[in-house]
Amino acid sequence: MRKIEHIGIAVKDLAASNQIFEDILGVAPYKQEEVQSEHVLTSFFQVGESKIELLQATSPDSAIAKYLEKNKEGIHHIAFDVEDIMAEIARLKAKGYTLIHESPKEGADNKIIAFMHPKSSNGVLVELCQDRFKK
Ligand code: ZN
Repeated sequence: MRKIEHIGIAVKDLAASNQIFEDILGVAPYKQEEVQSEHVLTSFFQVGESKIELLQATSPDSAIAKYLEKNKEGIHHIAFDVEDIMAEIARLKAKGYTLIHESPKEGADNKIIAFMHPKSSNGVLVELCQDRFKK
């Protein structure tokens, strides 16, 4: 794991939350992107070498919609930047950790991603995140 790639925050109203984080961070989101496979609308803010990802559900089927049925708005997941996501998935599985995605899938912002199950990581939803295009 190389750095915290981003922190994901579940929000109900992306436009309102964009304004809040623009006020806090002093920068506008550099991108807004819908991830249709996940039924989410996202926006990203750059904060030094890391990012803040705001996530709003676009359908009741979205994991974010289900999360907000049980929880208040707030920190949803922490994403770590990895060089080789396949190797990290294999490494963590070999240690007995449960992954929600055992093979990587397309994420927002030109990433391929896999989530670990929070039951095996102290209740923290961990996202592994690799650049889709090698730099
Ligand atoms: Zn994320």
